[in-house]
Amino acid sequence: MSEFTVETMQGTCLPISIGGTYRQSGGAEIESFDPTTGQAWCRVSDCTTGEVDAAVAAANGAMRNPAWRDLTQSQRGLLMLKLAEILERNIDRIAEIEVKDNGKLLREMRALAQALPVGLRYFAGMADKIEGTTIPVNKPDMLNFTMREPLGVIGVIIPWNSPLYMMVRAIAPALACGNTIVVKPSEHASAGAIAFAEMFSEAGFPDGVFNVVTGYGHSAGNALISHPGIAKIDFTGGPATGRIIARNAAENLTPATLELGGKSPHVVCDDADLDAAANGVVAGIFAAAGQTCVAGSRCFVQESVYDEVLTRVIDKARAIRIGDPRRDDVQLGPLALWSQVEKVAEFVDSAKEQGARLVFGGGRPSGLGNGWYVEPTIFADVTNDMRIAREEIFGPVLSVLKFRDEEDLLEQANDSDFALASGIWTQNLNRALRFMRRIEAGMVWINTYRSPSVMSPVGGFKESGYGKHNGFAAIEEFSRIKTVVIDYSGAQQDAFVMRINK
Ligand code: NAD
Repeated sequence: MSEFTVETMQGTCLPISIGGTYRQSGGAEIESFDPTTGQAWCRVSDCTTGEVDAAVAAANGAMRNPAWRDLTQSQRGLLMLKLAEILERNIDRIAEIEVKDNGKLLREMRALAQALPVGLRYFAGMADKIEGTTIPVNKPDMLNFTMREPLGVIGVIIPWNSPLYMMVRAIAPALACGNTIVVKPSEHASAGAIAFAEMFSEAGFPDGVFNVVTGYGHSAGNALISHPGIAKIDFTGGPATGRIIARNAAENLTPATLELGGKSPHVVCDDADLDAAANGVVAGIFAAAGQTCVAGSRCFVQESVYDEVLTRVIDKARAIRIGDPRRDDVQLGPLALWSQVEKVAEFVDSAKEQGARLVFGGGRPSGLGNGWYVEPTIFADVTNDMRIAREEIFGPVLSVLKFRDEEDLLEQANDSDFALASGIWTQNLNRALRFMRRIEAGMVWINTYRSPSVMSPVGGFKESGYGKHNGFAAIEEFSRIKTVVIDYSGAQQDAFVMRINK
C-alpha cells in the first residue's frame, strides 16, 4: 500500500477510492493549487457519472455485506478505535497535506488533525449505546418499542477550509450508526480525503464502507447528491450551494443536513474585560484568515467603549505576523483560493463606496512572493445595511458596528440572513444570559470564541442551514427510528377495525 505524503502526491494526478481500491479516474484533470506559491502542486479528476455510480454501488454493496451489516455495534466501535489510532500516528502527515491544499496555518491544521481521533473515539464509544425506547401505549398485552437503525449510504460533500475535520465530524457518527459513505471533497482540497482512504482500509473496515470520488460540485458533486442510491446527504459549504443541494435532494426526497455560512455577531459590552475581548475579536475573525464558517465578522461594540475597543483591535491586528503558514511564528497565512483574494478586494471597494471607514489593512502585503496573501482588514462605522455587514466574505475582513443598549444590539444582531454562531464579552452574567436567550444563532459563546467540542452540537438556523453535527444530536441525524408493536395477548383481533386508542 502506498503512503501518501506531500512529496509522493506532488505533481501527480491523485487517484479516487472505490470499494477499498485506489484507481485512476477517467475524468478530466483539475489542478490543485498551493496558496503559498500560487502554483499547481497536484491534480485531481473530475469523476464521471459512471464512477460516482460505482462508488454508490460499492457503498450500497457494503451495506448488504454481512461483514459490515452483521457486525455487532461494539465491533463497529472497535474498528473506529483502530482508525483513530492510525490517524493519531499520522497527524503531522495529514496536517502537511492539508496545508499544501488550503494554505491554513500548520499549527491550526495540526490541531484539527489531532481532533480527528478524538472525534472518532467519542463516536466509537457511542456505537453500542444507541438505544430505542419502550412506549406505554395504553394497550394491555402489547409491547411497543422503537429501535434506531442505519440509513444506508451517506453522501458527504465537504468544503476546502477544514476538509478532514468536516469529513470526520460527519462520518464518525455515520459509521457509529452502521452507515456507509461516499465522500466528494472540494475540488480545491481533495488530497486529505484521498490519503484518509488508505488509513481507513488499514483499520480493517470491509471494502466499500468508505469511498472517495473527486471533482467539481456541478458534475461529480451533483451526480452524488442526485443519486437515488443515496440515503442522506451531509453537506458543508456555502449557502448558494446549499440551496441547489436542497432543491436537487428534494427530487429524490433525500434528507440532508446543511452546514452553511455565517455572518456571526461578536459583541463587546461596556463592562467587558476589554483586553480579553479585543483578543477574542481579533482571533475570532483573523484566525484561519477569516476562512471559517463561525468567523466573528460583525463586531458590535457598545458606544461608550467603541473608540477604545477599536484602538485595541487595530493595535492587535497591526501585530499579526503574516507569512508562510508552515512557520510556527506566523499567525496569518494566505487565502486558499485566488478567487477569494478577488472577492475580498471587491468587498473592500464596496465597503468604501457605501461609507464604511477603512481603519486598517485593505490591501495585499508586499514581499511574500506570489502567495495569495491579504492584509487583516478592519472597517469602522459599518452599519448593518452595508454589504460587508450582510454577506459572508470568508476572508480576514472585520466590520465594527456600534450599539446603544441590549434592545438595539439584539435588533441589529438578529437582523441577518444567517444564524450560525455568536459571541458576547461581558462581566454581567444576567446580561450574558439575556443575550443567550434572544440571539438567533445555533451557538453562543460567552467570554470566549471559536471553542467547539465534539461533544457539543453545532449547526445553524436560517440561511446557515439545518441539522446538527457533534454530540448525540449527530446520531439522530444518521439513524432512523423504527417502531415495533408486539401483541402477546394471544387473543383474536377484529382485523377490520384499526386498533387505535379511543
Ligand atoms: P462551496 O459551497 O463552494 O463548496 C462546498 C462543496 O460543495 C465542494 O465540495 C463543492 O465541490 C461542492 N458543490 C458545489 N456545487 C455543488 C453542487 N451543485 N452539487 C453538489 N456539490 C456541490 O463552499 P466552499 O467555498 O468550498 O466553502 C466555503 C463555505 O463553506 C463558506 O460559506 C463557509 O461558511 C461554509 N462552511 C460552513 C461550515 C459549517 O459548519 N457551517 C464549515 C465550513 C465551511
